[in-house]
Amino acid sequence: MTASSALLAHLNHEQLAAVTLPAAHALILAGAGSGKTRVLTTRIAWLIHTGQVSPAGVMAVTFTNKAAKEMLTRLGAMLPIPVRGMWIGTFHGLCNRFLRAHWKLAGLPQSFQILDAQDQLSAVKRVIKAMNLDEERFVPKQVAWFIAGSKEEGLRPKDVDVRDEHGRKLVEIYQAYEDQCQREGVVDFAELLLRTYELMRDNAALREHYQHRFRHILVDEFQDTNRLQYAWLKMFTGAHNSLFAVGDDDQSIYAFRGAQVGNMADFEREFRVPHVIKLERNYRSFGNILDAANALISHNTRRLGKNLRTEAGPGEPVRVYEATSDYAEAQWLLEEAQQLHRDGTPRSEIAVLYRSNAQSRVIESALFNAGIPYRVYGGLRFFERAEIKHALAYLRLIENPNDDTSYLRVVNFPTRGIGARTLEQLQDAARVSGRSLYQSVGAVTGKGGANLAAFNALVDAMRENTRGLTLREIIEHVVEASGLADHYRNEKEGRERLENLDELVNAAEAFVTQEGFGKDAVALPVDEQGVVAGLVPGALAAGDPPAPAPVEVAPDAETGEIVSPLAAFLTHAALEAGDNQAQAGQDAIQLMTVHAAKGLEFDCVFITGLEEGLFPHENSLSDYDGLEEERRLMYVAITRARKRLYLSFSQTRLLHGQTRYNVKSRFLDELPEGALKWITPRVQGFGSGFARDYQAAWASGSGLGSIVGAGRLPAASAPVTTADGVALRVGQSVFHTKFGEGVIVTLEGQGTDARAQINFGRHGTKWLALSVAKLTPVD
Ligand code: ATP
Ligand code: MG
Repeated sequence: MTASSALLAHLNHEQLAAVTLPAAHALILAGAGSGKTRVLTTRIAWLIHTGQVSPAGVMAVTFTNKAAKEMLTRLGAMLPIPVRGMWIGTFHGLCNRFLRAHWKLAGLPQSFQILDAQDQLSAVKRVIKAMNLDEERFVPKQVAWFIAGSKEEGLRPKDVDVRDEHGRKLVEIYQAYEDQCQREGVVDFAELLLRTYELMRDNAALREHYQHRFRHILVDEFQDTNRLQYAWLKMFTGAHNSLFAVGDDDQSIYAFRGAQVGNMADFEREFRVPHVIKLERNYRSFGNILDAANALISHNTRRLGKNLRTEAGPGEPVRVYEATSDYAEAQWLLEEAQQLHRDGTPRSEIAVLYRSNAQSRVIESALFNAGIPYRVYGGLRFFERAEIKHALAYLRLIENPNDDTSYLRVVNFPTRGIGARTLEQLQDAARVSGRSLYQSVGAVTGKGGANLAAFNALVDAMRENTRGLTLREIIEHVVEASGLADHYRNEKEGRERLENLDELVNAAEAFVTQEGFGKDAVALPVDEQGVVAGLVPGALAAGDPPAPAPVEVAPDAETGEIVSPLAAFLTHAALEAGDNQAQAGQDAIQLMTVHAAKGLEFDCVFITGLEEGLFPHENSLSDYDGLEEERRLMYVAITRARKRLYLSFSQTRLLHGQTRYNVKSRFLDELPEGALKWITPRVQGFGSGFARDYQAAWASGSGLGSIVGAGRLPAASAPVTTADGVALRVGQSVFHTKFGEGVIVTLEGQGTDARAQINFGRHGTKWLALSVAKLTPVD
């Protein structure tokens, strides 16, 4: 066999046709897992191998760094040449490379810096401030979106069509922002693309050079290109080169950011594409997984229309799991993943997908506590997110105002008119006297000094005002009093950050319950048997909520050291944010949003949080296009799995700071029953009144909200389900590993909050946190 036929050996007929097309434009339109990326990569190798182009004459564009890296690795395996220097990367990566080479022509300093989204926002703020404009009317985040949106349409300030006074002002800000970036030698993400595009457009010599160089331009995930990216591709392609685009309209998931599926049709028309190839055989997944994907996406109406088939046989059924709480969902997932690993699946072949970043916290926490290595892609780990770090910095200052790092992080966030010069003075003074920044404020004079003093006073007031509060209340207070909440409320894109801050409250609450600080009380130690200490049995009137005497501090479980819940929580947060994330190269479970999973594949995939309002996301529910985009997102998620797919949802979820009673996602109803297997264990007592109400509400589609509304939940005598999914009711006999047999006297709370008062006879009556205590029903 020749080397060339070896390259082509593992292709089917259509794939082979696509790979070996003559040099001309082509569109490969095909469903998930049909080999689009493989075709694209193999075509590069084939073109080079057969001498039709040199490695320097190829440019390939993908959407994520992970995908670009994978493409290079695959190519490296196919070709006996170094592939490192090839122009294969993301749009941003390639533009960066281009502008580094032509910085002078692009009018940039040689060492220009790139602003990330966060930096861009602060730059916009400085402009608004310098222009003396009102942040209420010109919300920085909205302005930043306006600027990015304009650039993605290829519009400079002079090109923007203004209709009114507000629009005129926005354009002025845009112009001032551009001037500022230019002065400081920085570019934002959209600028990378636009600057490259314009330089190519305006500089004929350069354009000819590159159009002569890149004979073959290939682009993956074409359905997600926006207008500027499309124009950019067109510019590099010119009149003589070939553009080879692969994509899947059913996987278009960036419409909300301006991506245009219409680019596919435009491409076909404008380039008079002679070759459109469809691939219909899926090589990735087994039949049941594919059936689920096909059935789901058939509910969308706006499709170019294609179906996928496999010859791999049905494989295992898609497993569906119903959890009682998000905490229980994470526990189940963790155990299932452990079992998969024990059975031989590498951790890197296990992916956990979720719709929104905020959902990762509970899962991260379960994996963290179990000591299982994991890696979070396409989004920061929870405790590393900027808003969380800001909130933690304020909390740290309450504990220790001399923590200079935290001080610097938030002294001017949200903005308080404390500028760089003032901070320099403060740092100098601190350096000279050897004291902390907080202690050195007196050394700074003038308005800056007054603003610093006001910040110190704010920290002091927060400390005073949170004395004696529960950890939850402390965090809630600090998030408000610091101005963080208001700050994010005013941002167009601040919603997710606010959700994350709510998640911080949940994290604290879960920490408090798990780590032995009780729940509603300031500190109620729970030992490893789950006993809530400090409650006096019998002190409660029947039906009363327990009112335990608040204890300010609790001894550390191991050392006996007295620590406040806040201090313990901060230590925990610092540890979780530390290097516990899997090291490079370590076998780790892969956590990511569905968006970040595009193009990837794994042996086993968990799709979690399949609940109405979560997935499909509540923002999409009122809007038909929005719902179709959510469905495409679900289609992407399902089609990531090779061998085994799990779908899970939870009856209750602590989200945005409150417990929500959920209805399972409509997407579950759109899957063929025959491909599914429900694996939720049959729990005792499921035929009880509550369960019947619950099921009725379920069947009627009205959800649990209706039961809550009718005042029937949670009645004192309603059964409570433990984290393990065991249903308990008052009067029931249970067995506890340490205290033996006992009878349940009182039950309250649900999910992770659930507690039981149990009479253990000889051992007395005890309160147990059901998320910790292991109880088995006896009768
Ligand atoms: P997505 O839409 O998710 O990006 P895709 O169309 O790009 O999917 P690939 O990732 O290229 O699909 O291929 C899916 C899987 O099928 C890969 O593991 C690939 O190696 C394998 N595959 C593709 N074609 C063949 C083939 N002819 N024979 C064997 N395996 C194949
Ligand atoms: Mg692909």
